[in-house]
Amino acid sequence: MSAVIAEQSAPSSAVARFLSRRPQLFINNEWVDAKSGKLIPVIDPANGRNIASVADAGEADVDAAVAAARRALEHGDWADMRPAKREALIWRLSDLIEQNADELAELESLDNGKTKFMANIVDVAGTRNYFRYMAGWATKIEGSTIDVSAGGPPGTKFQAQTRREPVGVVAQIIPWNFPLAMAAWKLGPALATGCTCILKPAEQTPLTALRLAELIAEAGFPPGVVNVLTGYGETTGAALVRHPGVDKVAFTGSGEVGKLINKSATDTLKRVSLELGGKSPVIMLQDMDVQTAVGGAAQAIFFNAGQVCAAGSRLYVQRDIYDQVLEGVAGAANAIKLGPGLSPDTEMGPLVSSEQQQRVMDYIQAGRSEGASVMAGGEPVDHPGYFVKPTVLASVNNSMRVVQEEIFGPVLVAERFDDLNEIADIANATPYGLSASIWSNDLRAVNRLIPKIKAGTVWVNCHGPVDPNMPFGGFKQSGTGRESGRAAIEMYTELKSVCMMI
Ligand code: NAP
Ligand code: MG
Repeated sequence: MSAVIAEQSAPSSAVARFLSRRPQLFINNEWVDAKSGKLIPVIDPANGRNIASVADAGEADVDAAVAAARRALEHGDWADMRPAKREALIWRLSDLIEQNADELAELESLDNGKTKFMANIVDVAGTRNYFRYMAGWATKIEGSTIDVSAGGPPGTKFQAQTRREPVGVVAQIIPWNFPLAMAAWKLGPALATGCTCILKPAEQTPLTALRLAELIAEAGFPPGVVNVLTGYGETTGAALVRHPGVDKVAFTGSGEVGKLINKSATDTLKRVSLELGGKSPVIMLQDMDVQTAVGGAAQAIFFNAGQVCAAGSRLYVQRDIYDQVLEGVAGAANAIKLGPGLSPDTEMGPLVSSEQQQRVMDYIQAGRSEGASVMAGGEPVDHPGYFVKPTVLASVNNSMRVVQEEIFGPVLVAERFDDLNEIADIANATPYGLSASIWSNDLRAVNRLIPKIKAGTVWVNCHGPVDPNMPFGGFKQSGTGRESGRAAIEMYTELKSVCMMI
């Protein structure tokens, strides 16, 4: 049975320095107080203790950041910068991330609850790699030449070309599950294309975005190119979304807030990209080796304590191996060691906040009331901090809330299926369409299933790998637009046609 294995360790001196900084906003490459003077507490989710404060940006601070971003976009060094110089700056930032990797991983662990080990190898390394990949795009943006048939005055003809130009001032609003990596997914393509940015991290996890701002200044980006505003979604975030000086809003977070943002941005017809939630199916066909199936299913849901938009939160196993796989996954759940993120023996940290812990426990209760059987976890953890035991619910059906709604915690719902012909319909029967995985070595079955799954990413014999070069985003209510790869560059540019009479 999982119990909490250790108490949180004291922070390193580098992190202690950062935590005791004056809480300020990063606007125009300067650190400034929020005009209101209001602060937001930062909590260590492993014990509920207050570890720092950040500034709470209000409407006047949003105005100042948008004005700085607009000036940088239209005049001065950034506006005139050659692509190769942008590339060099982004690469320099990635080097600074590498040099400060340990401190960034520790900050992420303290702020979010994830283990420092995972923060290092997933979040920080992923962030460095994302900026490196996007640095390369700065020098590879291109248009095309177009033959035009339109007639002009006698003796003339037309020739046309397209150009990709920065979409402009971008407000980037990100969630708390991968704070630094989400900042990179937003800033990377924006900087590669020459946009300017106002980044708003989640109120629960503002620390690495602020440390990143320090590194952005150190790398030598001109003033106003990146601004970081800490604050609440309902105030700072909403003010950014409705601001007439913002050209695009890039959002990652819940479907509920995504819909609000889409509506609000309509008033000024801003460009909007939304990466929203998911309820991703993991489909195990019965030719799978049971051990591989168990390991794959457990990793798909329990990575990052299930606080992953693409988490494999619905497990469907074909009849012959269902009982063995379910028993194996329940055993794997019970064996996971819960503890604070800085403890080297911890395998799963706490959830990000007491609110999230409560939300997840409420879902588990709803599952019980609707008739699900609890195969692992389920009961509360008697320890300060926001821990939730890895939980497996079986005997579920598609009408249950735990099957339809995103829980965003370490809770798996599992069900048996019989016939390959019915699994695509079962997998598609939620409002979401972010991702899915199919596990089988039957090539024919897999290849027939892939086109039937309504999801932005389908993994085969794995669940979760993302790559800066691989488009990522949702079908249905999992969002609009694709991040990463060429698709991200297209999202951060406007396409301009130039037509010339010759
Ligand atoms: P959330 O509540 O939607 O918050 C996301 C961000 O939006 C936060 O910065 C939040 O600010 C801000 N916000 C809240 N209300 C706002 C408003 N009215 N106007 C503008 N901004 C507003 O989501 P979350 O609970 O932090 O994150 C979990 C969700 O993110 C899950 O649904 C998950 O699936 C999704 N997610 C999706 C992806 C993907 O790529 N598809 C990746 C990661 C996470 P405050 O928190 O500061 O109030
Ligand atoms: Mg909030």
